[in-house]
Amino acid sequence: MSDDSGRIKRGNSTRIVHAGRRKEWTGALVNPPVWRGSTVLYDSVAEMRERQRDTHHRFYYGRRGTPTQWSLADALTEMEPGAAGTLLYPSGVAAVTTALMAVLNPGDELLMVDSAYEPTRAFCDGILKRYGITTRYYDPLIGAGIADMLSDRTRAIFLESPGSLTFEVQDIPAITAIARERGIVTLLDNTWATSLFFPAIPNGIDLTILACTKYIVGHSDVMLGSVTANDAHWDALRRATYALGQHVSPDDAWLGSRGLRTLSVRLKQHEANALAIARWLETRPEVARVLHPALESCPGHDLWKRDFAGSSGLFAFVLNGGDDAARTALIDGLELFGIGFSWGGYESLVIPADPPRSAVKWVAEGSLVRLQIGLEDAEDLIADLAAGLDRFAEARG
Ligand SMILES: *Cc1c(COP(=O)(O)O)cnc(C)c1O
Repeated sequence: MSDDSGRIKRGNSTRIVHAGRRKEWTGALVNPPVWRGSTVLYDSVAEMRERQRDTHHRFYYGRRGTPTQWSLADALTEMEPGAAGTLLYPSGVAAVTTALMAVLNPGDELLMVDSAYEPTRAFCDGILKRYGITTRYYDPLIGAGIADMLSDRTRAIFLESPGSLTFEVQDIPAITAIARERGIVTLLDNTWATSLFFPAIPNGIDLTILACTKYIVGHSDVMLGSVTANDAHWDALRRATYALGQHVSPDDAWLGSRGLRTLSVRLKQHEANALAIARWLETRPEVARVLHPALESCPGHDLWKRDFAGSSGLFAFVLNGGDDAARTALIDGLELFGIGFSWGGYESLVIPADPPRSAVKWVAEGSLVRLQIGLEDAEDLIADLAAGLDRFAEARG
Protein backbone atom coordinates (compact mmCIF):
# COMPACT_ATOMS: atom_id res chain seq x y z
CA MET A 1 0.00 0.00 0.00
CA SER A 2 1.17 3.54 -0.78
CA ASP A 3 0.17 6.93 0.58
CA ASP A 4 -0.67 10.06 -1.48
CA SER A 5 2.99 10.79 -2.16
CA GLY A 6 3.52 7.30 -3.58
CA ARG A 7 5.61 6.21 -0.59
CA ILE A 8 5.02 2.86 1.08
CA LYS A 9 2.47 3.32 3.87
CA ARG A 10 4.10 3.51 7.30
CA GLY A 11 2.51 2.08 10.43
CA ASN A 12 3.53 3.26 13.88
CA SER A 13 6.26 0.67 14.40
CA THR A 14 7.75 1.40 10.99
CA ARG A 15 7.73 5.13 11.68
CA ILE A 16 9.47 4.66 15.02
CA VAL A 17 12.28 2.80 13.28
CA HIS A 18 12.73 5.27 10.41
CA ALA A 19 11.76 8.64 11.89
CA GLY A 20 14.44 11.30 12.38
CA ARG A 21 17.19 9.34 10.63
CA ARG A 22 17.96 11.88 7.92
CA LYS A 23 21.04 11.05 5.93
CA GLU A 24 22.59 14.49 6.56
CA TRP A 25 22.42 13.77 10.30
CA THR A 26 23.46 10.11 10.40
CA GLY A 27 26.03 10.09 7.59
CA ALA A 28 26.81 6.48 6.67
CA LEU A 29 25.71 5.23 10.10
CA VAL A 30 22.39 3.83 11.30
CA ASN A 31 22.16 6.12 14.34
CA PRO A 32 23.10 9.80 14.41
CA PRO A 33 26.41 10.19 16.24
CA VAL A 34 26.80 12.39 19.33
CA TRP A 35 27.64 15.84 17.99
CA ARG A 36 28.99 17.91 20.88
CA GLY A 37 29.62 21.61 20.60
CA SER A 38 28.92 25.10 21.84
CA THR A 39 30.54 27.42 19.29
CA VAL A 40 29.56 27.11 15.65
CA LEU A 41 32.09 28.55 13.21
CA TYR A 42 31.00 30.54 10.15
CA ASP A 43 32.95 31.25 6.98
CA SER A 44 31.95 34.89 6.97
CA VAL A 45 29.95 37.59 8.72
CA ALA A 46 27.43 37.37 5.92
CA GLU A 47 26.89 33.68 6.57
CA MET A 48 26.55 34.33 10.29
CA ARG A 49 23.87 36.93 9.63
CA GLU A 50 22.03 34.75 7.16
CA ARG A 51 21.89 31.84 9.62
CA GLN A 52 20.26 34.00 12.28
CA ARG A 53 17.15 34.31 10.15
CA ASP A 54 16.06 30.75 10.89
CA THR A 55 17.97 28.59 13.32
CA HIS A 56 15.63 25.60 13.54
CA HIS A 57 17.56 22.38 12.85
CA ARG A 58 20.49 24.42 11.51
CA PHE A 59 23.89 24.96 13.10
CA TYR A 60 23.80 28.33 14.87
CA TYR A 61 25.02 28.04 18.47
CA GLY A 62 25.19 25.05 20.83
CA ARG A 63 22.02 26.06 22.64
CA ARG A 64 20.02 25.40 19.46
CA GLY A 65 21.40 21.87 19.36
CA THR A 66 23.13 19.69 16.82
CA PRO A 67 21.92 16.83 14.59
CA THR A 68 21.85 14.57 17.67
CA GLN A 69 19.05 16.55 19.30
CA TRP A 70 17.37 17.43 15.97
CA SER A 71 17.07 13.77 15.08
CA LEU A 72 15.14 12.89 18.22
CA ALA A 73 12.96 16.01 17.96
CA ASP A 74 12.21 15.25 14.33
CA ALA A 75 11.30 11.64 15.14
CA LEU A 76 8.87 12.76 17.87
CA THR A 77 7.28 15.20 15.39
CA GLU A 78 6.80 12.41 12.85
CA MET A 79 4.96 10.38 15.49
CA GLU A 80 2.31 13.14 15.61
CA PRO A 81 0.79 13.52 12.12
CA GLY A 82 0.05 17.18 11.40
CA ALA A 83 2.52 18.53 13.97
CA ALA A 84 4.77 21.49 13.08
CA GLY A 85 7.73 20.60 15.29
CA THR A 86 9.14 19.38 18.60
CA LEU A 87 11.54 20.88 21.13
CA LEU A 88 13.43 19.01 23.82
CA TYR A 89 13.79 19.89 27.51
CA PRO A 90 16.05 18.74 30.36
CA SER A 91 13.08 17.07 32.13
CA GLY A 92 9.38 16.43 31.75
CA VAL A 93 8.67 19.18 34.26
CA ALA A 94 10.74 21.66 32.20
CA ALA A 95 8.63 20.68 29.17
CA VAL A 96 5.38 21.29 31.09
CA THR A 97 6.47 24.65 32.53
CA THR A 98 7.91 25.98 29.25
CA ALA A 99 4.78 25.02 27.30
CA LEU A 100 2.65 26.87 29.87
CA MET A 101 4.94 29.95 29.77
CA ALA A 102 4.71 29.91 25.97
CA VAL A 103 0.95 30.37 25.91
CA LEU A 104 0.01 32.27 29.11
CA ASN A 105 0.20 35.98 29.96
CA PRO A 106 -0.44 37.88 33.20
CA GLY A 107 -4.18 38.18 33.81
CA ASP A 108 -4.96 34.91 32.00
CA GLU A 109 -6.79 32.02 33.56
CA LEU A 110 -5.72 28.40 33.17
CA LEU A 111 -8.04 25.42 33.62
CA MET A 112 -6.01 22.53 35.04
CA VAL A 113 -7.21 18.95 35.41
CA ASP A 114 -7.49 17.98 39.09
CA SER A 115 -5.62 14.71 38.49
CA ALA A 116 -2.52 16.45 37.06
CA TYR A 117 1.01 15.40 37.97
CA GLU A 118 1.80 17.00 41.33
CA PRO A 119 4.77 19.19 40.21
CA THR A 120 2.55 20.56 37.40
CA ARG A 121 0.07 21.69 40.06
CA ALA A 122 2.90 23.14 42.14
CA PHE A 123 4.11 25.27 39.19
CA CYS A 124 0.60 26.65 38.65
CA ASP A 125 0.00 27.39 42.33
CA GLY A 126 3.49 28.88 42.75
CA ILE A 127 5.21 30.60 39.83
CA LEU A 128 2.17 31.12 37.59
CA LYS A 129 0.23 32.62 40.49
CA ARG A 130 3.14 34.98 41.24
CA TYR A 131 3.04 36.13 37.62
CA GLY A 132 -0.65 36.96 37.84
CA ILE A 133 -2.02 33.84 36.16
CA THR A 134 -4.96 32.16 37.89
CA THR A 135 -5.38 28.38 37.87
CA ARG A 136 -8.76 26.74 38.41
CA TYR A 137 -8.92 22.95 38.77
CA TYR A 138 -11.58 20.86 37.05
CA ASP A 139 -12.98 17.35 37.47
CA PRO A 140 -11.11 14.95 35.14
CA LEU A 141 -14.50 13.48 34.14
CA ILE A 142 -16.00 16.89 33.25
CA GLY A 143 -15.98 16.24 29.46
CA ALA A 144 -18.14 18.74 27.52
CA GLY A 145 -19.12 20.24 30.89
CA ILE A 146 -15.87 22.22 30.63
CA ALA A 147 -17.92 24.77 28.64
CA ASP A 148 -19.61 25.90 31.87
CA MET A 149 -16.25 26.71 33.46
CA LEU A 150 -14.93 29.01 30.76
CA SER A 151 -14.64 32.72 31.44
CA ASP A 152 -13.50 35.66 29.30
CA ARG A 153 -10.06 35.26 30.81
CA THR A 154 -9.68 31.52 30.11
CA ARG A 155 -6.67 31.26 27.85
CA ALA A 156 -5.68 27.60 28.14
CA ILE A 157 -6.93 24.16 29.21
CA PHE A 158 -4.38 21.63 30.43
CA LEU A 159 -5.26 17.93 30.22
CA GLU A 160 -3.54 14.81 31.46
CA SER A 161 -5.19 11.54 30.48
CA PRO A 162 -5.25 9.17 32.21
CA GLY A 163 -4.61 11.23 35.33
CA SER A 164 -1.59 10.81 37.57
CA LEU A 165 -2.10 8.30 40.42
CA THR A 166 -5.86 7.82 39.87
CA PHE A 167 -6.03 7.15 36.09
CA GLU A 168 -9.33 8.82 35.15
CA VAL A 169 -9.62 9.01 31.34
CA GLN A 170 -10.67 12.40 29.97
CA ASP A 171 -12.98 13.14 27.03
CA ILE A 172 -10.20 14.81 25.04
CA PRO A 173 -12.12 15.26 21.73
CA ALA A 174 -15.06 16.93 23.55
CA ILE A 175 -12.76 19.35 25.37
CA THR A 176 -10.61 20.21 22.34
CA ALA A 177 -13.72 20.83 20.21
CA ILE A 178 -15.06 23.37 22.72
CA ALA A 179 -11.62 24.97 23.13
CA ARG A 180 -11.19 25.37 19.34
CA GLU A 181 -14.56 27.06 19.06
CA ARG A 182 -13.64 29.57 21.77
CA GLY A 183 -10.04 30.17 20.69
CA ILE A 184 -8.62 28.54 23.82
CA VAL A 185 -5.28 26.68 23.72
CA THR A 186 -5.16 23.01 24.78
CA LEU A 187 -2.11 21.29 26.26
CA LEU A 188 -1.92 17.58 27.01
CA ASP A 189 0.51 15.68 29.21
CA ASN A 190 0.57 12.49 27.10
CA THR A 191 3.34 10.70 29.00
CA TRP A 192 1.27 7.60 29.88
CA ALA A 193 0.06 6.75 26.37
CA THR A 194 2.77 8.34 24.18
CA SER A 195 1.94 9.12 20.53
CA LEU A 196 1.85 5.38 19.93
CA PHE A 197 -1.32 4.78 21.95
CA PHE A 198 -2.76 8.29 21.57
CA PRO A 199 -1.58 10.64 18.81
CA ALA A 200 -2.51 13.99 20.37
CA ILE A 201 -2.18 16.53 17.53
CA PRO A 202 -4.54 14.60 15.19
CA ASN A 203 -7.00 14.53 18.10
CA GLY A 204 -7.15 18.32 18.30
CA ILE A 205 -4.53 19.08 20.97
CA ASP A 206 -2.38 22.19 20.31
CA LEU A 207 0.69 21.31 22.40
CA THR A 208 1.47 17.76 23.48
CA ILE A 209 3.98 17.06 26.22
CA LEU A 210 6.00 13.97 27.03
CA ALA A 211 8.14 13.23 30.04
CA CYS A 212 10.57 11.33 27.79
CA THR A 213 12.29 10.28 31.02
CA LYS A 214 9.60 7.59 31.13
CA TYR A 215 8.80 5.46 28.07
CA ILE A 216 10.87 7.22 25.39
CA VAL A 217 14.14 6.75 27.27
CA GLY A 218 12.79 3.53 28.76
CA HIS A 219 15.84 2.57 30.82
CA SER A 220 15.60 4.80 33.93
CA ASP A 221 18.89 6.54 33.23
CA VAL A 222 18.12 9.92 31.59
CA MET A 223 15.97 12.96 32.41
CA LEU A 224 14.32 14.33 29.26
CA GLY A 225 11.14 16.08 28.12
CA SER A 226 9.54 17.17 24.85
CA VAL A 227 6.79 19.43 23.56
CA THR A 228 5.30 18.91 20.11
CA ALA A 229 3.22 21.78 18.70
CA ASN A 230 0.81 22.31 15.84
CA ASP A 231 1.33 25.14 13.33
CA ALA A 232 -0.66 27.67 15.31
CA HIS A 233 1.53 27.40 18.42
CA TRP A 234 4.92 26.39 17.08
CA ASP A 235 6.36 29.93 16.93
CA ALA A 236 5.25 30.80 20.46
CA LEU A 237 6.77 27.56 21.76
CA ARG A 238 10.07 28.26 20.03
CA ARG A 239 10.25 31.84 21.31
CA ALA A 240 9.61 30.82 24.93
CA THR A 241 11.99 27.86 24.74
CA TYR A 242 14.84 29.92 23.29
CA ALA A 243 14.22 32.84 25.66
CA LEU A 244 14.32 30.54 28.69
CA GLY A 245 17.57 28.98 27.48
CA GLN A 246 16.22 25.44 27.45
CA HIS A 247 18.71 22.90 26.15
CA VAL A 248 19.32 19.14 26.30
CA SER A 249 22.78 17.57 26.13
CA PRO A 250 23.51 15.59 22.96
CA ASP A 251 24.38 12.54 25.08
CA ASP A 252 20.95 12.56 26.70
CA ALA A 253 19.21 13.12 23.36
CA TRP A 254 21.19 10.23 21.89
CA LEU A 255 20.00 7.94 24.69
CA GLY A 256 16.46 9.20 24.06
CA SER A 257 16.74 8.22 20.39
CA ARG A 258 18.16 4.85 21.31
CA GLY A 259 15.20 4.25 23.63
CA LEU A 260 12.65 5.43 21.09
CA ARG A 261 13.60 2.77 18.52
CA THR A 262 12.31 -0.04 20.78
CA LEU A 263 9.29 1.81 22.18
CA SER A 264 6.78 -0.22 20.25
CA VAL A 265 7.95 -3.66 21.46
CA ARG A 266 8.52 -2.46 25.01
CA LEU A 267 5.05 -0.92 25.29
CA LYS A 268 3.41 -4.13 24.05
CA GLN A 269 5.13 -6.08 26.82
CA HIS A 270 4.42 -3.45 29.49
CA GLU A 271 0.79 -3.59 28.37
CA ALA A 272 0.47 -7.38 28.49
CA ASN A 273 2.22 -7.68 31.87
CA ALA A 274 0.27 -4.83 33.45
CA LEU A 275 -3.06 -6.21 32.23
CA ALA A 276 -2.30 -9.69 33.59
CA ILE A 277 -1.42 -8.23 36.98
CA ALA A 278 -4.33 -5.78 37.07
CA ARG A 279 -6.83 -8.56 36.30
CA TRP A 280 -5.28 -10.79 38.96
CA LEU A 281 -5.43 -7.97 41.53
CA GLU A 282 -9.15 -7.59 40.79
CA THR A 283 -9.72 -11.13 42.09
CA ARG A 284 -8.03 -10.46 45.44
CA PRO A 285 -10.16 -9.69 48.53
CA GLU A 286 -7.48 -7.31 49.93
CA VAL A 287 -8.01 -5.08 46.87
CA ALA A 288 -11.08 -2.81 46.74
CA ARG A 289 -10.54 -1.40 43.22
CA VAL A 290 -7.99 -1.50 40.43
CA LEU A 291 -7.50 1.82 38.62
CA HIS A 292 -6.42 0.79 35.13
CA PRO A 293 -7.96 2.46 32.04
CA ALA A 294 -8.35 -0.87 30.20
CA LEU A 295 -10.52 -2.33 32.99
CA GLU A 296 -14.25 -1.64 32.81
CA SER A 297 -14.34 -0.43 36.41
CA CYS A 298 -11.96 2.48 35.68
CA PRO A 299 -13.63 5.92 35.44
CA GLY A 300 -13.52 6.89 31.77
CA HIS A 301 -12.90 3.33 30.53
CA ASP A 302 -15.36 3.83 27.62
CA LEU A 303 -13.39 6.89 26.49
CA TRP A 304 -10.14 4.94 26.68
CA LYS A 305 -11.72 2.25 24.51
CA ARG A 306 -12.95 4.81 22.00
CA ASP A 307 -9.78 6.93 21.76
CA PHE A 308 -6.69 4.93 22.73
CA ALA A 309 -4.86 2.23 20.79
CA GLY A 310 -3.49 0.52 23.90
CA SER A 311 -2.68 0.75 27.59
CA SER A 312 0.75 1.08 29.12
CA GLY A 313 2.34 -0.36 32.26
CA LEU A 314 1.38 2.17 34.93
CA PHE A 315 -1.71 1.81 37.12
CA ALA A 316 -2.82 1.79 40.75
CA PHE A 317 -5.02 -0.13 43.14
CA VAL A 318 -7.01 0.80 46.23
CA LEU A 319 -6.57 -1.40 49.26
CA ASN A 320 -9.53 -2.66 51.24
CA GLY A 321 -9.16 -0.77 54.52
CA GLY A 322 -5.92 -0.92 56.48
CA ASP A 323 -3.76 1.99 57.56
CA ASP A 324 -0.46 3.41 56.34
CA ALA A 325 1.48 0.82 58.36
CA ALA A 326 -0.37 -2.04 56.62
CA ARG A 327 0.30 -0.52 53.19
CA THR A 328 3.95 -0.06 54.15
CA ALA A 329 4.20 -3.73 55.18
CA LEU A 330 2.99 -4.68 51.70
CA ILE A 331 5.46 -2.38 49.93
CA ASP A 332 8.59 -2.73 52.07
CA GLY A 333 8.75 -6.52 51.70
CA LEU A 334 8.46 -6.67 47.91
CA GLU A 335 11.48 -8.34 46.31
CA LEU A 336 11.07 -7.57 42.62
CA PHE A 337 9.57 -4.05 42.81
CA GLY A 338 11.90 -1.12 43.49
CA ILE A 339 10.54 1.62 45.74
CA GLY A 340 11.08 4.82 43.79
CA PHE A 341 9.66 7.72 41.81
CA SER A 342 9.38 7.86 38.07
CA TRP A 343 8.41 4.99 35.79
CA GLY A 344 8.58 3.81 32.17
CA GLY A 345 11.85 1.90 32.55
CA TYR A 346 12.29 -1.83 32.03
CA GLU A 347 12.01 -2.60 35.76
CA SER A 348 8.98 -2.74 38.04
CA LEU A 349 8.42 -0.04 40.66
CA VAL A 350 6.00 0.66 43.48
CA ILE A 351 5.05 3.75 45.50
CA PRO A 352 2.45 4.58 48.14
CA ALA A 353 0.27 7.27 46.55
CA ASP A 354 -1.89 9.93 48.19
CA PRO A 355 -3.56 12.00 45.45
CA PRO A 356 -3.60 15.79 45.94
CA ARG A 357 -7.04 17.17 44.98
CA SER A 358 -8.86 20.48 45.07
CA ALA A 359 -11.84 20.24 42.67
CA VAL A 360 -13.15 16.79 43.59
CA LYS A 361 -12.43 15.16 46.92
CA TRP A 362 -10.66 11.80 46.60
CA VAL A 363 -12.72 9.19 48.44
CA ALA A 364 -11.59 5.56 48.63
CA GLU A 365 -12.04 2.35 50.61
CA GLY A 366 -8.41 2.42 51.69
CA SER A 367 -5.05 3.78 50.66
CA LEU A 368 -3.59 3.72 47.17
CA VAL A 369 -0.61 1.80 45.77
CA ARG A 370 0.82 2.73 42.36
CA LEU A 371 2.60 0.14 40.27
CA GLN A 372 4.89 0.53 37.28
CA ILE A 373 4.99 -2.89 35.64
CA GLY A 374 8.26 -3.67 33.92
CA LEU A 375 9.42 -6.35 31.53
CA GLU A 376 9.91 -9.17 34.05
CA ASP A 377 7.87 -12.41 33.90
CA ALA A 378 4.35 -11.46 34.98
CA GLU A 379 3.90 -14.60 37.09
CA ASP A 380 6.96 -13.68 39.19
CA LEU A 381 5.56 -10.21 39.83
CA ILE A 382 2.21 -11.75 40.79
CA ALA A 383 3.89 -14.06 43.30
CA ASP A 384 5.72 -11.09 44.82
CA LEU A 385 2.48 -9.08 45.08
CA ALA A 386 0.58 -12.09 46.49
CA ALA A 387 3.07 -12.30 49.36
CA GLY A 388 2.71 -8.52 49.79
CA LEU A 389 -1.08 -8.72 50.04
CA ASP A 390 -0.68 -11.46 52.66
CA ARG A 391 1.57 -9.12 54.68
CA PHE A 392 -1.02 -6.35 54.27
CA ALA A 393 -3.87 -8.60 55.47
CA GLU A 394 -1.86 -9.68 58.50
CA ALA A 395 -0.89 -6.10 59.42
CA ARG A 396 -4.48 -4.90 58.90
CA GLY A 397 -5.73 -7.59 61.27
C1 LIG B 1 7.25 12.03 35.55
C2 LIG B 1 6.18 12.84 34.96
C3 LIG B 1 6.43 14.15 34.56
C4 LIG B 1 7.75 14.83 34.78
O1 LIG B 1 8.82 14.25 34.14
P1 LIG B 1 10.32 14.39 34.71
O2 LIG B 1 11.14 14.01 33.56
O3 LIG B 1 10.41 13.48 35.88
O4 LIG B 1 10.50 15.84 35.10
C5 LIG B 1 5.40 14.85 33.94
N1 LIG B 1 4.19 14.29 33.77
C6 LIG B 1 3.91 13.05 34.17
C7 LIG B 1 2.56 12.49 33.93
C8 LIG B 1 4.89 12.28 34.79
O5 LIG B 1 4.59 11.04 35.21
